[in-house]
Amino acid sequence: SRPVRISVHLHPYGDGRKLLLSRDVTALEQAEAMRRDFVANVSHEIRTPLTVLTGFVETLQTLHLSTDERARYLGMMAQQAARMQSVVQDLLTLSRLEGSPLPGMTDWVPARLLVQRCEEEGRALSGVLTQQHARKHVLSFEAEGLDGVELAGAMSELQSAFSNLISNAVRYTPAGGEITVRWRRNPQGDVVFSVADTGPGIAAEHIPRLTERFYRVDRSRSRETGGTGLGLAIVKHVLQRHGASLQIVSTVGVGSTFTVVFPVTRLRFARKSDAIAVA
Ligand code: ADP
Repeated sequence: SRPVRISVHLHPYGDGRKLLLSRDVTALEQAEAMRRDFVANVSHEIRTPLTVLTGFVETLQTLHLSTDERARYLGMMAQQAARMQSVVQDLLTLSRLEGSPLPGMTDWVPARLLVQRCEEEGRALSGVLTQQHARKHVLSFEAEGLDGVELAGAMSELQSAFSNLISNAVRYTPAGGEITVRWRRNPQGDVVFSVADTGPGIAAEHIPRLTERFYRVDRSRSRETGGTGLGLAIVKHVLQRHGASLQIVSTVGVGSTFTVVFPVTRLRFARKSDAIAVA
């Protein structure tokens, strides 16, 4: 909703006449504003935990604390350091995604393997959160129609995208909530992956902005569960690179469903005869 910006330049001729040159610099200025916002966001995300960390260091240096208190402070310091580490890690992932060539049609990821890895990661994360915050969830995984299906793309990228969506559902859904992860094929043959949760839901006005870097609906809730605000930006990038799409449907107070459609044009099918030959 920025106004259009035109840059105007008067080019003088020797005979006294002037040529008016104008150029639309709206896009250029927008890109520059985005870059500035991004740098400001990154600085803020790093500076906040750094300030807290420095405060703890000063406390340890100046106060004579009991062994127990020292241990508690060190624990909190480790948490802040871990937070900075996740932000830096996610930023590196994003910049690597932007800089590397698109995954071609030569690397094939067996769908079954992807499902298995996502399930392992989802269950492990849910286990950790159960221990830390007593957040027990009902987590279920369903997969059908994936026998012999292979996806063109990079295993590590796809796993990180799907795991991010599962991890969000686990992190934002309160104890006792249900998370259903489904893999299926639609009538066109595309692979459809969905994560449905019974979490807090997301108001409609936030949905279009969720994949922006550092955009969060609720900052404190995101931080509390170790969020960096970069997860969905990474998901969007990975899916774009693989020609896949993301759809978000959510109702406040009811829950959210994140759906990925991975197009049939980027699938291949292991032939039955191959399977027999191997067996
Ligand atoms: P974060 O690290 O904060 O989770 P993401 O980019 O993964 O960052 O998500 C952006 C924001 O979208 C989150 O801060 C949260 O407000 C919202 N969000 C994402 N997934 C869910 C979900 N399953 N339920 C409710 N809110 C969600």
